[in-house]
Amino acid sequence: MAKMKQPDITGLGYQQGDKYGYETTKQYVLDRDNYTCQICHGKTKDPELKIHHIIYRSNGGTNQVSNLLTVCATCHTQANHQPGGKLYALLAKKFQSYRSLKGATFMNILRRRLFKAFPEAKFQYGAQTTLDRAKLDLPKAHYNDAVTISGIQKIAQRPTAVVMFHQFRKKKCSLHEATARKGRKIPNIMSKRNAKNKKFSKGFYLNDYVQLPDGQKGNVSGFSGKIKCFVKAGDGYYLAISSKYKHINLSILKVIRHQNNWNVTEIEVKTHQMA
Ligand SMILES: [Zn+2]
Repeated sequence: MAKMKQPDITGLGYQQGDKYGYETTKQYVLDRDNYTCQICHGKTKDPELKIHHIIYRSNGGTNQVSNLLTVCATCHTQANHQPGGKLYALLAKKFQSYRSLKGATFMNILRRRLFKAFPEAKFQYGAQTTLDRAKLDLPKAHYNDAVTISGIQKIAQRPTAVVMFHQFRKKKCSLHEATARKGRKIPNIMSKRNAKNKKFSKGFYLNDYVQLPDGQKGNVSGFSGKIKCFVKAGDGYYLAISSKYKHINLSILKVIRHQNNWNVTEIEVKTHQMA
């Protein structure tokens, strides 16, 4: 990971990451940003500084310092997090340029398991695949990489659609949900937020593909209490019927289909090419 972020890294550098010399991530970020709000650049004169996640935690944003930003309390508002807001604009921009290390971490784990399961498997680097893909005259896309790696020599017919499989989480496995909080002796299993861990309510299941009264479609991403749930669209954003609340009453939703832990969608090729 360190090498991906800084290709010329050597020796001690591996132990001296971005935060070397800083006691906490928060301190590092504040210092890097000169203890100044990066939205208003100090114009509001608000002395209360917050650490903002550019890609929100709810969207899987990490605590990597590149995802953190110093923002004053005046700028760090709910409204600024919403579409049209200043923090939302940063998020959208970051999404475009963000190269998450999550994929690399995932591959590091998966690669080892794959080699164990398929000892005859061969290893191919992305650089080679890029060259081979160019020979086949295929645009850059994950599925075209897969086609290229197969060793095929000629493409007889180009697909117009690809099928995407997306696996949903089976459980909410955050450690903090299972571990006693500071000062507690036993896990807080009675806590209200554990209502989110429900897998079904009133005939709805987690991940169900549902339709809102206004025609919007998405997947149930979690429940809130007995009669409300959250619905996320394919792009990962919450669907809402009111600008105030993200949760939606189950009574107004229509199930299109149950899907267990898998979401299968057919996507037109041209809409799914990587930049
Ligand atoms: Zn500010």
